[in-house]
Amino acid sequence: MAINILPPLVANQIAAGEVVSRPASVVKELMENAIDAGATQITLNVQDAGRTLVEVIDNGSGMDEEDCKKSILAHATSKINTAEDLHNLTTMGFRGEALASIVSIAQVEIATKQENEQMGTLLVVEGGQIKSVSPTACKKGTAIKVKNIFFNVPARRNFLKSDSVETSHIVSNFLNVALAYNEIAFTLYLNGKPMYNLMRATQKKRIADVYGENFAQNLVSIEQELDVVKVKGYVSKIDLSRKTKQEQYFFVNRRFMKSAYFANAIEKAYQGLLPERSYPLFFVHLTVNPKDIDVNIHPTKTEIKFIEDKIIYSVLFSLTRQALGISNLSGRMDFEKKSINFPETRNSNVNFPKISYNKSYNPFSQNNELGFTQSRIENNTGFDMFTSEQSEPSDIKTSAINSGISATQSSPSIQQMVFLNKYIVSPLQETLLFVDIHKASTNIIFHRLCSNTGKIASQALLLPIEHRFAPMDCYILLENSHKLQKLGFEMSFLKDNTFSITAIPVGTNPENAVELVEDLIKHENLDIDNKGKREKLLLSMARKLAIKAGENLSQEEISTLLADLFALPSPETLPDGERVILKIDQNFLNKFL
Ligand code: ADP
Ligand code: MG
Repeated sequence: MAINILPPLVANQIAAGEVVSRPASVVKELMENAIDAGATQITLNVQDAGRTLVEVIDNGSGMDEEDCKKSILAHATSKINTAEDLHNLTTMGFRGEALASIVSIAQVEIATKQENEQMGTLLVVEGGQIKSVSPTACKKGTAIKVKNIFFNVPARRNFLKSDSVETSHIVSNFLNVALAYNEIAFTLYLNGKPMYNLMRATQKKRIADVYGENFAQNLVSIEQELDVVKVKGYVSKIDLSRKTKQEQYFFVNRRFMKSAYFANAIEKAYQGLLPERSYPLFFVHLTVNPKDIDVNIHPTKTEIKFIEDKIIYSVLFSLTRQALGISNLSGRMDFEKKSINFPETRNSNVNFPKISYNKSYNPFSQNNELGFTQSRIENNTGFDMFTSEQSEPSDIKTSAINSGISATQSSPSIQQMVFLNKYIVSPLQETLLFVDIHKASTNIIFHRLCSNTGKIASQALLLPIEHRFAPMDCYILLENSHKLQKLGFEMSFLKDNTFSITAIPVGTNPENAVELVEDLIKHENLDIDNKGKREKLLLSMARKLAIKAGENLSQEEISTLLADLFALPSPETLPDGERVILKIDQNFLNKFL
């Protein structure tokens, strides 16, 4: 068999497969190059989720014509001369193949000028072929346009995901760099709209600019300098946590890194302090001697091997514990106490309704001994009774005669009552039902949201609510406006990350509008096309929209609620398995009476 040497374009396209898997990889490589060139201002322009354009403009050193032409060749790098250099790398890139890979799969224009030059250079490359090199008037620095990525590799192009998936990769890569280099100003435009405009700032201010002031106030700093590692950053206080690990940032020598192992060190410090399946957030810089790490184990270099990983693990764990302790002293909860006493406190404080089994009590008699714990009644949280005869819900038989519990003479027509402001108690055939009002309402709304035609009716607001959202939230809102409409929200973008909310789902309190929207945004990019995720999202939304315990309901509302509930395919449980109804029947009673 003859051995062929691959033509350079093919070789570069194969290399590109490693370096450039999607527009977001181009973003990462170009931004890293801009940082290595000493830029203090970096602008990223993205069109069509990066499919048609990824442009990075920097005010760094720039290149002269010779270097510009060389920069797109394979193994062209100004960053290593000898093998020894490989071990001392502090710059972002070092493989010298990013530009070569990118130009092989896109149409690229590089405009660049050094400080001392009169004119800059414009290099046009298409599929690895130089189309033209010409002098151009431009500012000091480099502007690289990467157009029509994968124009010559349709298979790869077809492999790209939806615009919102590709854009969220781009935004994460942008943030991975922007959060690490707070002393550099960054701007991100998505389809011409400014999404982030980040001034030079301290690390904490940069976090605040990205995630909001409130978020940043819930962080505590950790800092320690040892021989093997310098640690500096922020971890979240126990009041702030997330269902995903998205906001967990490690930077090693200022490069974003994923490390499940180190993340575990920090997470362990929170053990027992966060709600179930919630994770802490953190932004932690590790500075180590480049000789003590191997960054080259993964082509996209987000995983790094450490020689001293065990020491670093325990440093991270104890620093985080300390930081949480310090935040306690300044007035927040004491975690030591909380972790030891929490279960006990919980049991003693929660007021579950208790049923007392005194045989002589008839729950339906109108004398005051209702058969439920005395303290309840004294607390004024006992029954509200309804005796209306007209409003019998169509789907359920609630006749006292059928109930198997004979009502007393004084209240022959009792059908439903509200107990503890929280439960509807209703006889149904041979059983007595306790229906949790909030959960019943949640179940009904959930099914309404799930129905195919499922557009939630919305109510226009007399006074629209204007709210300024976090930049990433704005992006999600813009991308998902039709989905929000389906959920009953009408919103329009004003300017400056501010939206006007003009309509909200019927039955929602305008005071909760912003909270509802923000809660929806948190749901993994509003992925309403994925069934499981959509259900979770709709359930959470239903919980927010549902009748709250303690709300006063009219007899009519109660009847409608029961009728709607029993019209559902599964009235008794919520989609996550939570119980909505408790049935007390003869078997149940036999156990106790
Ligand atoms: P690497 O970054 O690994 O050296 P690249 O292919 O990313 O390889 O870049 C090749 C070379 O092009 C760099 O070493 C650098 O000299 C030059 N270069 C790339 N981008 C820029 C930029 N934005 N400003 C100045 N020089 C750049
Ligand atoms: Mg590079």
